[in-house]
Amino acid sequence: MTFTGGGSARPHFVLVPMLLQGHTIPMADMACLLAERGAQVTFITTPVNAARLAGFVADVEAGGLAVRLVELRFPAVEFGLPDGCENMDMVQGKGLLLNFMEACAALREPLKAHLRHSPPCCIVSDKMQWWTGDVARELGVPRVTFNGYCGFSSLARYIINRDKVLEHVTDENKLITIQGFPTPLELTRPQCPGSLSFPGMEEIRDKIYEEELRCDGEVINSFRELETLYIESFEQMRRKKVWTIGPMCLRDSNTMAARGNKASMDEAQCLQWLDSMKPGSVIFISFGSLACTIPQQLVELGLGLEASKKPFIWVIKAGAKFPEVEEWLADGFEERVKDRGMIIRGWAPQVMILWHQAIGGFMTHCGWNSTIEGICAGVPMITWPHFAEQFLNEKLVVDVLKTGVEVGVKGLTEWGNEQQEVMVTRDVVETSLSTLMDEGEAAEKLRVRAKDYAIKARRAFDEEGSSNNNIRLLIQEMGNTTNASG
Ligand code: UDP
Repeated sequence: MTFTGGGSARPHFVLVPMLLQGHTIPMADMACLLAERGAQVTFITTPVNAARLAGFVADVEAGGLAVRLVELRFPAVEFGLPDGCENMDMVQGKGLLLNFMEACAALREPLKAHLRHSPPCCIVSDKMQWWTGDVARELGVPRVTFNGYCGFSSLARYIINRDKVLEHVTDENKLITIQGFPTPLELTRPQCPGSLSFPGMEEIRDKIYEEELRCDGEVINSFRELETLYIESFEQMRRKKVWTIGPMCLRDSNTMAARGNKASMDEAQCLQWLDSMKPGSVIFISFGSLACTIPQQLVELGLGLEASKKPFIWVIKAGAKFPEVEEWLADGFEERVKDRGMIIRGWAPQVMILWHQAIGGFMTHCGWNSTIEGICAGVPMITWPHFAEQFLNEKLVVDVLKTGVEVGVKGLTEWGNEQQEVMVTRDVVETSLSTLMDEGEAAEKLRVRAKDYAIKARRAFDEEGSSNNNIRLLIQEMGNTTNASG
């Protein structure tokens, strides 16, 4: 694809997302936001991932945006991965995660070669693509990182890393106080980002952190009014510029349904079903692109849903992996709930669903994209974190914003570990659904607050809104850096 608009006078940004849906989707939004405000953007990807970006490409073309997709060959086989394994959601088991990270880092030379003749004004890259720090230094351009977290979680993670908080903590149940956090924060070890360990990952984790310390600023997919205190504290502690430029999912898009992969079901049929439901009556259940909930836990969740008698859309990704879930669904469950339940196997058009007026609640794994999409939808949430910084996002939603209730998960649902125990029983699922969806003062308060944040989120993109201004400032500052350095 070539630039479809703009000229060479535009500040040129190179975006390097992590090859992972939850990280690529917001950076695709970021590319459009920058281009809509006068930048030209090169978006780095690989052939298999490019094929998943059809919705993004359609948006770019429809808007005549100066965005160019560049595909670098991904050396999967050279690093012991199956041919075509170019996205983290294709990695079979955590034993191969290191190979995947190393294959990503091997894109360093091809990227340098690609950019050498016309260096951009700035590289914006995912924190996990730590090696882009080298590329930026060699080209003499700034590197801004995108960590995929909100301000609250970015700050907590920063303190945890800086103070080596997890060192010597072996008791999984011990509450650790995060000193220096602007509001009281206590976490157990499994609830801290970075607590999951994969073979060989320590070294990469250190490199990611070192490169973050050296970067020239950070962009965050959040908006200042949502979490002012935490964003300001993060900026002060980091002593770096932090640009909040979200919620990036609010960007005008014609292809809201086609974010990430192609939906695995008929979108028109889904909309028709939602149209037939009462406003605010349906709960949407989705655990993102990576979470691997064990079969017994999915069954408990399903039985809780059934007992609640509430209408629902439930996205299940395990079907292909765990035939027993598919068998259980077919063995009566689907039939019993057919009048009020829709099951989506595979990829769901999440934003399209969430923003439909029939949706009254969102049971989420608290990945940050899902969380901010839920905030923009103005719906209260039931929080069910699985791993990474999801426990922190839960605390933001439940304790700070007060727009959600926790289902009460205490431990990790380890990525790739299928030998786990059921953590949430059907009764607990049923109770949390009632708390969120029923009439009553407590639920009403959650709904009012959720709607209020959705309004604030949209204001961040008003002409003088905070995120709109920050995108313009980012383009201006980076554009000036290039001009100043000639
Ligand atoms: N998503 C989607 N359909 C799905 C699953 C996920 O559109 O079936 C999108 C979701 O809207 C979000 C992203 O994929 O934009 C998932 O990111 P998140 O940070 O929530 O979780 P992760 O997948 O990284 O755990």
